[in-house]
This record gives sequence, structure tokens and C-alpha cells, in this order.
Amino acid sequence: MSEIETTTTEEQEALPCFVRHHDAGGLCEEPGTIEVYGLRFCEAHGLEARLGAAMEAHGDAEDFFERFRSPHTLQPSSLVGRALEVAIDYTTAGCPDGEDYDRALALAYPNPPDDVRTRTLEWMLVEEPGYQSVEDYLLEDLMLTNKLLRLAYEDGATWMVERLEVERERLAAEAAVALEESKRRSGDRAPVQPGE
Ligand SMILES: [Zn+2]
Repeated sequence: MSEIETTTTEEQEALPCFVRHHDAGGLCEEPGTIEVYGLRFCEAHGLEARLGAAMEAHGDAEDFFERFRSPHTLQPSSLVGRALEVAIDYTTAGCPDGEDYDRALALAYPNPPDDVRTRTLEWMLVEEPGYQSVEDYLLEDLMLTNKLLRLAYEDGATWMVERLEVERERLAAEAAVALEESKRRSGDRAPVQPGE
């Protein structure tokens, strides 16, 4: 069973998008035409969810194979080494581009509620140099939630998939605000001055 597919039947198209968290703008009433981990999404929310799921799955697969190249593991034979290279190339090549994901995130969550925008921007105001940025923190949590979603789906735990997806929508809305603000700051600062 494929976890990421586009549905086509009239019955499936009649069902609404799953997105519902308050922070994501509430219940989405667009028809659900893209299926990710058994949940249906509209075009915009579905593209973001699909790219996010694919990025996590490819990253996880790459991490799995990379472990065998660690100097702390048995040195593989030349044949195994070549097979490992092919496997890593395959998982890397299929991974969506990060900028494509950023664009999909912005399109899926273009206008989060004011309280989401306010608390995310207030959090960004107290960012300190040398620490992980709010944007990176949120995107990392999004990928972690994608991983938990995949594991729950593979385990057949539909109730957990639905619960995690709602939480993922909150993170996605905050991440969209942080990404937009980060890009605005980059634009304001360009060109970057030495020592900034
Ligand atoms: Zn939607």
C-alpha cells in the first residue's frame, strides 16, 4: 500500500481536506484530492504534507544506509560498498528539494491566525546568536512529527495518525510564519555586512 498517492474517484473527491487545527486557520473545506498516510488533503495542504512526508522518508532511509559507512562498523566488501553507494544515491536523488518544500509550506499556510503570528514573532524576537533559530527548531519538529506519522501509519494506528496530523498542522502554521519572517529579515539585511 502506497502511503503517498493522489485519489481520483468521485467518492474520494467529495470528502473534505483533513486540515482542522485552529492555528492552521480551522477546518479546511476544500475537497480532499491528495492522500498522505491515509488522510486526504486539498491541493495546497496535500502538496505540503506530501513533500514533508517524502523528505522525512528519504532522510530516514539515507541515515539508515549511512550507518554502514561508519568507521565503527565492519568494513564492507567492495561489492557491498558499491551496493551501498547505489542505495545512498537512490535515496538522495529521490528527496524533494528544500526550497520546493518551503514554497509549498508558504502556499499551504499563507495566513495563520493573528495569535499564531504574534506568538511566533515574539519567540523570534528573543532568538540569541549561537542557538538554534526558531525557524530551524520548528522545521526540525515538523520532520520529527512526519517520522512519528509514518511509524504510526506503518503500524496501522489510524487514531494516532489523525492525532499527530493535527499537531503537525500547528507546527506547520508556526513554521510558515517563521519562514516568512526569516525571509523578510534576510531581505531587509541584504547585502549582509561583515561581522553581522
Ligand atoms: Zn486543505
